[in-house]
Amino acid sequence: MNGLLQGKNIVVMGVANERSIAWAIAKSLASQGAQLVFTYENERVEERVKKLTETIEGSRTVQCNVTSDEDVEALAHRLREEIGVVHGLAHCIAFAKTEELDGMYVDTSRDGFALAHDVSVYSLTAVAQRLHPLMTEGGSIVTMTYLGAERALPNYNVMGVAKAALEASVRYLASDLGPNNIRVNAISAGPIRTLAAKGISGFNTILKQVEEKAPLRRTTDASDVGDTALFLMSDWARGITGEVIHVDNGYSTVGI
Ligand code: NAD
Repeated sequence: MNGLLQGKNIVVMGVANERSIAWAIAKSLASQGAQLVFTYENERVEERVKKLTETIEGSRTVQCNVTSDEDVEALAHRLREEIGVVHGLAHCIAFAKTEELDGMYVDTSRDGFALAHDVSVYSLTAVAQRLHPLMTEGGSIVTMTYLGAERALPNYNVMGVAKAALEASVRYLASDLGPNNIRVNAISAGPIRTLAAKGISGFNTILKQVEEKAPLRRTTDASDVGDTALFLMSDWARGITGEVIHVDNGYSTVGI
């Protein structure tokens, strides 16, 4: 199978390093001929991201901090000028202060709550708002969520509340943009050892539990998520929108 995404321009947000879920998604999309535009947060990750993305032929990179409306607008402007039509967006961005990902949710600060929601939830809407007018041939928007949106999991705390809001945003965006043939879905991935995951207290215990209890008896590989994103970006998923698809080896389906 080759060229499922030939002629599609897809924006991939959230590559920080080679372990990033966004990078696994990018590799899957590129393998099927997608033309990729990467965004990265700031100068801190710029060199690393550019080194990686240069290995994908014809890709571009644009700096975009999603808490800045100016950055998001500048991204849309560049996309309009340089490629005209956008067919897909992979939103793989989240952030919460480390101290909010340990202990009890009840101790969440007002600032920590607002920051986590700004970066991890509102950013999807901010970007969709500016990019949907460029999806003139229809489109697919994919974001990343986690089981902590549905269940109170130890230490996930404010990020679980943010992911619940993100999943609700997916349904509202899908409802708004569906008439323009733009689909919006989330992938609920099982735990994967990435930079963001490092911030969650007790992450190794979670991995071990998944390996023991998930029906498929293994932890999620980033490539499992990459290939599901590829499916959602493709015409094969043309009837799917407003959904949360679990890619977790079945962990969310069993009682622990
Ligand atoms: P990661 O650290 O590789 O990626 C997180 C990305 O968010 C980084 O590239 C970071 O630069 C970016 N980011 C943070 N603040 C930003 C800002 N203000 N502007 C622009 N970019 C910003 O970790 P990851 O695990 O690949 O995370 C990707 C997504 O997958 C996140 O939404 C995360 O919650 C979700 N997710 C991860 C797991 C897991 O176990 N790793 C499981 C389910 C869902």
